[in-house]
Amino acid sequence: MDMSQQLTAERRARLAAEKLFEQKKSELYSANQQLSEHALSLSREMALTQEGLAHAQDEAERLRARYDRAQQTLVSMESEVTIAERRLWDSLETIRDGFAVFDRDDILVAANRAYLSIFDGLEMVRPGISMAEVFALLAEEGIVDIGGLSAKDWQTKMLRRLDQPRIATAILKIWNGQYVKLVERRTRDRDLVVLALNITDQIAREQKLQDATDRAEAANRAKSAFLANMSHEIRTPMNGIIGMADMLAETVLDSDQQLYVDTVRSSGEALLVIINDVLDYSKIEADKISLKPAPFDLERCILEVFTLLGPAAHDKGLQLVVDYDLFLPTHFVGDAGRVRQILTNLVGNAIKFTEHGHVAIRVVGIGNDTTDDVQLHITVEDTGIGIPQDKLQDIFQEFQQVENERDRAHDGTGLGLAISKKLIELMGGEIWVDSQVGKGSGFGFSLVLRGSDQPDTQGFPTPVWAGRVFVVDAEDLSRSILEKHLTLMGLNAIALPSVSTLALQDPGPGDLILVAPSGFRAGDIQDIAELKSRFSPAGLILLSNSAADARPDTGHYDATLTRPAPRAAIFECLVSVIQGLGSGKQDEPAKVAQPPVEPSGQPNPTRAPVSEPDQGQRLLRVLVAEDNRTNRLVIEKMMKDLNIDLTFAENGQEALDHVQWRQPDIIFTDISMPKMDGKEAARRIRAFETDEGLANCTIVAITAHAMDGDAEEILAAGIDHYLTKPLKKDALLAHIRQVARADCQPPMIEPNTAIAAAS
Ligand code: ADP
Repeated sequence: MDMSQQLTAERRARLAAEKLFEQKKSELYSANQQLSEHALSLSREMALTQEGLAHAQDEAERLRARYDRAQQTLVSMESEVTIAERRLWDSLETIRDGFAVFDRDDILVAANRAYLSIFDGLEMVRPGISMAEVFALLAEEGIVDIGGLSAKDWQTKMLRRLDQPRIATAILKIWNGQYVKLVERRTRDRDLVVLALNITDQIAREQKLQDATDRAEAANRAKSAFLANMSHEIRTPMNGIIGMADMLAETVLDSDQQLYVDTVRSSGEALLVIINDVLDYSKIEADKISLKPAPFDLERCILEVFTLLGPAAHDKGLQLVVDYDLFLPTHFVGDAGRVRQILTNLVGNAIKFTEHGHVAIRVVGIGNDTTDDVQLHITVEDTGIGIPQDKLQDIFQEFQQVENERDRAHDGTGLGLAISKKLIELMGGEIWVDSQVGKGSGFGFSLVLRGSDQPDTQGFPTPVWAGRVFVVDAEDLSRSILEKHLTLMGLNAIALPSVSTLALQDPGPGDLILVAPSGFRAGDIQDIAELKSRFSPAGLILLSNSAADARPDTGHYDATLTRPAPRAAIFECLVSVIQGLGSGKQDEPAKVAQPPVEPSGQPNPTRAPVSEPDQGQRLLRVLVAEDNRTNRLVIEKMMKDLNIDLTFAENGQEALDHVQWRQPDIIFTDISMPKMDGKEAARRIRAFETDEGLANCTIVAITAHAMDGDAEEILAAGIDHYLTKPLKKDALLAHIRQVARADCQPPMIEPNTAIAAAS
């Protein structure tokens, strides 16, 4: 090879080497670059790892601290739990009551010593024992008194309780005489927690209480029996005293003797009132009074009270007035006897403490839209001595009498208002009083009574009269009340104080005049005849206050309205007069608007038919069964003027024998009699009548028992009516009149009572 070639080759080689070198240099550079980058990243990474390491170390440190703290807490908590558990068990151990926990399978988990002590050291009773085994042990080992049951039955009975959602408690009497009450409850996890409460003391206390209650009840029964007996024992001799005094009063007496007899009678009656008050009060105190609601007529009840107390009021010249809300029903359901008792008390007081003026009962009521209940307000007002303000609070308390300081001018027990208040409260009402000394008093009470379905005001005929209706009465209150009622009836009523003021009104044939005797008191018109000839009114009605008002000129009146009159009587009286005017009234006899009301339970004597005696007919047969000789004598005397066939029996047996031999028309029988009492006799007489197909005769009990419950028992024995001792002649005779028969001779020969009432 030549040189050039060699040079070229060298150059080429050098170029190639340079190129390679360049390439290797760049490769080296890039490798270097990469290396340094890698180194950089490596060192960066290292730095990061170092940081992380430090962090992790911190973290580890913190965790360890936390762990340490947790460890400490755990230790302290563990000790707290131990303390709590120890405390709990210490507490459970200190209580006298047993405590045990069974798991959901009824296996004992834990129990305190008191629980275990029930088992008197039986080893088997420890955690792990089942409830069924516990009950079996209790029964079989004689630990509990299982009564008459077998051990198995008792165990079954006890276990069955535990299946109930609410487990009934059980009381066990255990071997040492103690009583344990088991109270068991399931927890949410269905564990069973058992408390065995030691109730020995409680049982002993209850037993003592029961013994005390039994003794108190026995004492109370003895007291009630004593009261009943006392009432009987006192009433029986009182019957003799009052009855004999009644008899004596009917004989010829000089004025001194008359006075003595009247005093015996009135003292006897006063004593009876006191006895009744004391008995009533004791009965209320002993919760022995129960109300006997039945349908009754309130207006009639008020009039009965007035009829009863009327004589006392008239003796003092007092006016008795009733203002019964015209459109208020009168039939209610309530205890009429008790309402009458309250009214008698209040009206009796009003009369007692009033010398001039009037005593008025006002009745208003508010109905209830949804029920039949009526809220009644009844007030008894008087124009008497009044009660000082500072005494008003006390007078409803027992034995409180204002006049203790007013030198005891009035008698009384001081129980009347206390009894009334209690009775009203028993009926769910209230009583209050308003009074002004020297002006008068007003006692009011509220009662809620259910209306009864008896026909009422709606059934009244309404009088229709186009002319004027004059009410002439000097008594302001009566006059204005009647005027108000007549106006409410739709009549053109004009009230005037006297007949002389009538002249100014110029009444004539188109008008009616209602005149009270007091209306004639002043002025020139002297009597009814003059009144009639002067004005010739269409109709004249006498407003009489009592039978004592009867005037010789009654024949001139078209009717008599005896006051206080029930509203129905006012309606009927006016209607009958107005109708009579249309149909030739001249020929008609005087009309009687309303005969006086008789005290309840006694038939109205004016209703009995009275005919002339006919000697061909048999006598009315009256049998009296009474063991007390004095009482027989009293009754005999009371009936001595009667035209009857009177027989006496000394006990129930004799009465029954008599009835079997000859049926009487009426039997009066005492209740307590030897051999056979009145109730038994009545039962047998009724049975005899039924067996023989005989009509029932009337049986009237004569009872001295004022105690509750008697009335029902008496009536349940088949007795029709009863009278309480002391017997009143009128009441006896009224019952005899009631049984008067057309085929018998009339029992009494007397003037026609219906006419007597009218004149
Ligand atoms: P008493 O049997 O004494 O009448 P009450 O309990 O009925 O007993 O009455 C208590 C007292 O209240 C009476 O004694 C009397 O002082 C007074 N009192 C009751 N009602 C009236 C009245 N209408 N007017 C004046 N005082 C009365």
